[in-house]
Parts: sequence; C-alpha cells; structure tokens
Amino acid sequence: MTPLALSSLSREELRRWLEARGHPAYRADQIRRHMLRAGEGGFASMGDLPLQLRAELEQSTAWSSLEVLAATAADRGLTTKLLLRTGAGHELEAVMITHPPRSGSRGRRTVCVSSQAGCAIGCVFCATGRLGLRANLTAAEIVDQVLESARRWDAESLGRPTNVVLMGMGEPLQNYSEVVSAIRLLHEWGIPPRQVVLSTSGLVPEIMRLAQEGLGARLAISLHATDDQLRDRLVPINRRFPIASLLDAARKYAAASGRRVTLEYVLIRGVNDDSGAARKLGQMAAAVHGHVNLIPMNPIPGSDLRAPSPAACREFAALVGPRATIRHSRGDRATAACGQLRASLAAEPRREKRILARELALVESPSGQPG
Ligand code: SAH
Ligand code: SF4
Repeated sequence: MTPLALSSLSREELRRWLEARGHPAYRADQIRRHMLRAGEGGFASMGDLPLQLRAELEQSTAWSSLEVLAATAADRGLTTKLLLRTGAGHELEAVMITHPPRSGSRGRRTVCVSSQAGCAIGCVFCATGRLGLRANLTAAEIVDQVLESARRWDAESLGRPTNVVLMGMGEPLQNYSEVVSAIRLLHEWGIPPRQVVLSTSGLVPEIMRLAQEGLGARLAISLHATDDQLRDRLVPINRRFPIASLLDAARKYAAASGRRVTLEYVLIRGVNDDSGAARKLGQMAAAVHGHVNLIPMNPIPGSDLRAPSPAACREFAALVGPRATIRHSRGDRATAACGQLRASLAAEPRREKRILARELALVESPSGQPG
C-alpha cells in the first residue's frame, strides 16, 4: 500500500487523522513544524513526539513524497536546481531562487515548481516539451517541492519560501485539480495564492474555470506570438484556442480575480522579434491591462533557436512600450533556467523529430508563408 503523503493533508485533516488514532490534535502542529526544518532525518529525529506516534507515522505515512537525486547551484548560490523523483519513479525538477534583500525590500525566496513530469503541449522552444507527458504530479508532490526548498533555505537560516511560480515542467492547467489543491495547501504553509503565479500555454476552458474558483492566484499567459499563424507553430495548443479567445479569457480572469495578468513572450531571433510583433504585443497588453515579460530564449539541447542580441531585445522592449520588462531567467549555468528543465530524461525520439520539423519550418519561413 502506498503510504499516506503527509503533505497531501491540510492542517485540519492531519489533526483529525491523529485524533482518529487516539493522539492529541496538537501533535499536528509539531509534525508540521518539523516538516519545515533543516536537517530533519524523517520521523526518527522528531524527538518531541512520543515513540509510539513516531512508529505509527513511520509505518503508515511518508515524510516526503519526493526523493532528492541531485542539487545543482548556480548564480553564486542564488539559484539551485533540484532533481527529484516521485514514488512512482518519475523524475522532475524544481528551482530555488533567492532574491537577496535590497534597500527598501526584504528579499524573497521563490520556488519554481513543476506540475507534471514532462509536458504534452510540445512548444518548439522548450526542453520539457520534447519529453512528452510522463506523469501528472499529485498535490503532495507539488507541495513537497516547496517544503524541500524550505528545508534547504532553513539550513542556511534564510527564512521561509515567500513565492511560488508554476513555471517548471508541465502545463499546470492540464493537471487542474491537483494544482488547485496544491495552491490551497500552500496557503497553510505561509504562501497565499496572491504570491503564486500560474503560468499557462493557454487552455481557455480551464482559465475560465480557475476564474470561477475564486482562488486569487496570479495568472501568466505564455503568448510568444501575436498572430495565430505563428503561434500555431510555436505553441501548438493555439490551434484549439486561438489568440483572440485566449486574450478574452485573460481579460475575464483579470476582472474576476482583481489581479493583473502577465503576458510572457520568449524572444527568439528571426522568429518573433520583428518590430510589427512588438507593437502588436504592446496593444494586446494594453487591451488586457496586463504586463509583458520578455524572456530572451535560453538555448536548449537539440535546437538551433537562439535569443536576439541584448541590444535587439532592448529595442523590442522599447517598441512594446512601458508595459514591458526584460526578464533574464536565472540559473543559466546550472541549466536551471526557464524551458531548460528536462530532468535527466532523454527526449522521446519520434516527438523530437516532429518538433524539429516544426523548428526547421520556422527558421526557413518564420511568418508561416511557404518559401
Ligand atoms: N507550461 C506552462 C508553464 C511552464 S513553462 C507554460 O508554458 O506557461 C514556463 C515558462 O517558461 C513559459 O512562459 C515558457 O514559455 C518559458 N520557456 C519555455 N522554454 C523556454 C526557453 N527555452 N527559454 C526561455 N523561456 C522558456
Ligand atoms: Fe509545456 Fe510550457 Fe514547455 Fe510549452 S513551454 S512545452 S506548455 S512546459
């Protein structure tokens, strides 16, 4: 029998679980404190719990639903990529990003979490897309990426995680219910939904469902193109949910949540970096009252696509207008940056071939016109 993942329970559920077994409910808070602390060696090290309770926990629950296979630091230790494995043997990655305090700001600790092992969408510029979907992660497996990060920050006395971005492996809205449960659970670990960003390639019905949910999480839309012909090729889900419907959903989400949406735009040299696209992007952002994050593309294995020069990125940003910010994703050297997450998994050969064919067509005729 698979053990019960402690991180799948809310605080109240853990209290009830304990009471049902004849233990006082307040033990829940003791256990949960241990789950955030550095150097915890599992139940054996929970010295303030009675031996019998420790034995029961050991027998029927799992301290963490993830095993850490490797941790790679970059950016002078400000970014750490964790390679993790689920109980079912699926590999995934999470990235810990430390923003040190600056004058006027207290510093933040952001965990970039995966919602799936692999991804089914197959965006042409993304390493995860080449893996295909290996598995949906459970809410506990999503939460445990944050708790594992919390223990590592605690080891350096850096404080608790403050923000979570669902920008690791996977399309969060294709794993809707586990992702929503995880966002709810994270609130009890000190991360309210307004400090969670859910990034999506654009599943319109699920965006609308999320708007109704009333969670209050922030939404980022991975736009990457301003016309359907190009977006169909970069982000294949666009064939089902074209740009106009996506922007409409973004506008409705913003209205329902009272939070501004972000449009993400990975800049790819010679593909989506022309001045016409920049102007259109500025108009689209204005129409949804949103902000634009321009992300110079990180190179990925097996692809010739590259970012424009830094000067060209700045020019593009200027044309988009005041709503645009250039974001360099952190951790390049540890290949921890956006889109580079592929665990230690090999691409799925037939899938990679299909994506490469799309890439070749893009480079030869970026606008989608033959010739
Ligand atoms: N599947 C979701 C969330 C995970 S991807 C989504 O697509 O939004 C998180 C972000 O990383 C997305 O905006 C994605 O477009 C971006 N990304 C993917 N590959 C990238 C690359 N090679 N360089 C820079 N950003 C990339
Ligand atoms: Fe999936 Fe997002 Fe990568 Fe596209 S960019 S393949 S949706 S993880």
